[in-house]
Amino acid sequence: MFSKAFQRKYALTDQGVKNTEKGVVWTVAANLVVMAGMGILYLLMGHFMDTLTDGAPLPAAAPVLALTVLFVLLSFLTHLQQYRATYGLVYDEVQATRLSMAERLRKLPLGYFGRRDLADLTETLLGDVNRMEHVWSHVLGYLYGAYISTGIVAVCLAVYDWRLALACLWGVPAAFGLLFGSWKLAANASQRVKQAALRVSDGIQEALENVREIRAANLEARYLERLNAKIDAHERTTVRGELSTGLFVNGASVIMRLGVATTILTGAQLILAGEIDFMLLFLFLLVITRIYAPFDQSLALIAELFVSQVSAERINELYDTPAATGSETFAPQGHDIVFENVSFSYGGEEVLHGVTFTAKEGEVTALVGPSGSGKSTCARLAARLWDVSSGRILAGGVDIATVDPEALLRDYAMVFQDVVLFDDTVMENIRLGKRGASDEEVLAAAKAANCDEFVRRLPQGYATPIGENGARLSGGERQRISIARALLKNAPIVLLDEATASLDVESETKVQQALSRLLAGKTVLVIAHRMRTVAGADKIVVLDGGRVAEQGTPAELMAKGGLYARMAALQTESAKWRV
Ligand code: ADP
Repeated sequence: MFSKAFQRKYALTDQGVKNTEKGVVWTVAANLVVMAGMGILYLLMGHFMDTLTDGAPLPAAAPVLALTVLFVLLSFLTHLQQYRATYGLVYDEVQATRLSMAERLRKLPLGYFGRRDLADLTETLLGDVNRMEHVWSHVLGYLYGAYISTGIVAVCLAVYDWRLALACLWGVPAAFGLLFGSWKLAANASQRVKQAALRVSDGIQEALENVREIRAANLEARYLERLNAKIDAHERTTVRGELSTGLFVNGASVIMRLGVATTILTGAQLILAGEIDFMLLFLFLLVITRIYAPFDQSLALIAELFVSQVSAERINELYDTPAATGSETFAPQGHDIVFENVSFSYGGEEVLHGVTFTAKEGEVTALVGPSGSGKSTCARLAARLWDVSSGRILAGGVDIATVDPEALLRDYAMVFQDVVLFDDTVMENIRLGKRGASDEEVLAAAKAANCDEFVRRLPQGYATPIGENGARLSGGERQRISIARALLKNAPIVLLDEATASLDVESETKVQQALSRLLAGKTVLVIAHRMRTVAGADKIVVLDGGRVAEQGTPAELMAKGGLYARMAALQTESAKWRV
């Protein structure tokens, strides 16, 4: 019954469209049953009038009672089904929508999360879906059902008398004309309300995140003032928005009700002219009281239909963002990583220009270069956290852009600087490396990563809760947990971002020992900051301004006397690899 455009407009799932159709069908049935009730009343009134005027006998009580009971039953059943199809099924729809949005978020390239901030995304998942829920349950079925049932009734009325039908129904299209004419105005107003609301929630989130800095700098009063101004602006736009939609909605309702007056006027004229009898006018007056009812309900809620457009668009925007998809199977030949003429931009300026190099299996390939030269970007691209703009990256001969990120990352272990630790025990934090790993496996990995001795010193050993993002651990300890995870995963490709923060000598040695166990025999791509790592690498790729300046073994590059040799000359053995 409904088109794809309808589905998109109201951000419905496939099942949601079917449910809405059900809701419409039952609404039509319920409305028609009510109209049939009016018909019964009309027939009874006719008999009654005949009895009064001609002394005809009243109809027998039994059939009238049977008809009434039948009407009540039908009315109950159709309204029950209508309720189920509109209010009942909407919970399934909300669940399905949120799940499919979450599934979608999982598949979106990481770049998307940089563009849309977290408060905004949360608002879409919670607020926008809530707003749509109300539209799905309270508006769609009722409104479209009312269109259809009114259409049917209008045809029936026109058969009786087209002049009266016109007098009775002209208000409906006029009211809707006014509403849809003002649609754009209402949509703009609701867009403004939405933006003002977002500014408020952003302001609150910012204040919460920076509460320490704000206090330290004694800026509370200024911050609150700014937040207050945002809340005031939100209040003003909301009141203005409500006022404009309220004006149009109530105006439409009044126009529709003018139909009662025109029906009485036209009916009276026609009776005086002897063209219709009073009973027909009576029938029209009976019907008219009911014909506006379903519209009244949806008119009151139609403002929501306007507001919902913004929410639906925001939900659709999520679905429209191309997901990082690809084949579910990843069957590489070996694990060499090959960059072929790779260029990339984060959306603005290009940051990598035609980068070509190979990181061979069983070797350590070090990416070096000044800060901002593109080392981290290369590492992220190698794991398909972003997709290249042009060129290709092959892993074991397979273009990684053709592989589903989840399948691809099974073969990768990443030890990055920003180690993410969860507020759980040490044991569980390491177990994250491999789902379902046994405690013995976790312990073995922890030992190999030199975690064991510091974990044993913690109050509850491996069962110690780590605290949010590992607040209780030192930099070197956090990194060793991250290495333990990678060891547990034992993936053939390792991406490593060496710590820039200086560790004490003991910690440094322990991290190095752990690393050497992790890296043995793997394809290793390391963002190197230390001379020791660089000198021990099998191959060095020197990046400069997003281009490969030179590449080769450390000895070759030293002999060449280029950028690498100059950088190396500036460094001492213990210094960090930074320019
Ligand atoms: P390096 O790791 O060598 O310090 P990066 O790969 O981090 O260099 O950065 C390369 C360039 O890309 C820099 O100009 C940096 O400003 C830019 N850049 C890095 N990350 C992002 C991002 N998420 N969005 C936009 N630009 C970025």
